[in-house]
Amino acid sequence: MIIVMQAGASEAQIESVVKRVKQLGYDAHISKGEERTVIGCVGHADKSPLQQLAATPGVESVVPILKPWKLVGRQFKPESTVIDVDGELIGGDRIALMAGPCSVETEERTVEIARAVKAAGARFLRGGAFKPRTSPYAFQGLEREGLEILRAAKRETGLRIVTELLSVRDIELVCEYTDIIQIGARNCQNFALLKELGGTGKPVLFKRGMSTTLKEYLQAAEYIVAGGNPDVMLCERGIRTFEDSTRNTFDLNAVALLKQWSHLPMIADPSHGTGIWSLVAPMAAASVAAGADGLIIEVHTEPEQAWSDGQQSLRPDKFQALVEQCRRVAEAVGRSL
Ligand code: PEP
Ligand code: MN
Repeated sequence: MIIVMQAGASEAQIESVVKRVKQLGYDAHISKGEERTVIGCVGHADKSPLQQLAATPGVESVVPILKPWKLVGRQFKPESTVIDVDGELIGGDRIALMAGPCSVETEERTVEIARAVKAAGARFLRGGAFKPRTSPYAFQGLEREGLEILRAAKRETGLRIVTELLSVRDIELVCEYTDIIQIGARNCQNFALLKELGGTGKPVLFKRGMSTTLKEYLQAAEYIVAGGNPDVMLCERGIRTFEDSTRNTFDLNAVALLKQWSHLPMIADPSHGTGIWSLVAPMAAASVAAGADGLIIEVHTEPEQAWSDGQQSLRPDKFQALVEQCRRVAEAVGRSL
């Protein structure tokens, strides 16, 4: 259920409704819009006790939420969410640009790539220190050493850091180093891990699983928000289909549909979405046209030497060209980059 407060309801009225909701045994999540405050009530199958609150002073209506997700939906919060990552905004007019190697490699290489992506306009450096690899014999990431390298790259460039967290075991360690926690496709429905993200206080770049429907995906995102962390970014990174000419099928529908269903910022990852470097720029531009709030792109100064995902990594000059193309598309749809 959501409780929609009247425009101009006082703080005291809102407080008293929240108190009542809690007394009835629900969790209350408050969304303050420009006009109205909405209180999301979650936690029980039986919603009938909440109906009584319709008569409380300051309450306009008590409305059932029709979708299986609640806090991440636009019914609860019509305005788009803007996440402030240490002064860099994600979800506003300006499209957020995240770029870097698939895996964190040597410090020299990582700093070289960080400088290159910054020069092209990126505001966030991506790079995995914990890598979820298909084969147990493939490079698994530099772990703590990789996090130290990311810290050095941040010191050199000022770029905010995005890096993947694979397991509950490493939450504290990863949070010590990163500005944004990436949850990868393979952990999209690792509910035990998602529940733990509520208490971290760090924004989460939450990737769609490779065979997760959008309905399942939003319910998975709901775990993080219901756990107490409202700073979640969705990310389309391609899904498994019968098509085998590309690594994944980049689901552009998802970019546009999730913007309609959810207020959370939507990031597009055409690198994993296509798996082929020459397809990354066109699908990045298409994502911006479809309403993406950000792009995450794999970039490497020598893709043929990359420790992972070299085939989909752009050289800095190609990345620069992608940024320029996406900037023109952004302007055409009333955004900036
Ligand atoms: C990555 O970003 O390098 C990665 C492993 O992504 P995904 O979880 O989308 O496969
Ligand atoms: Mn990768």
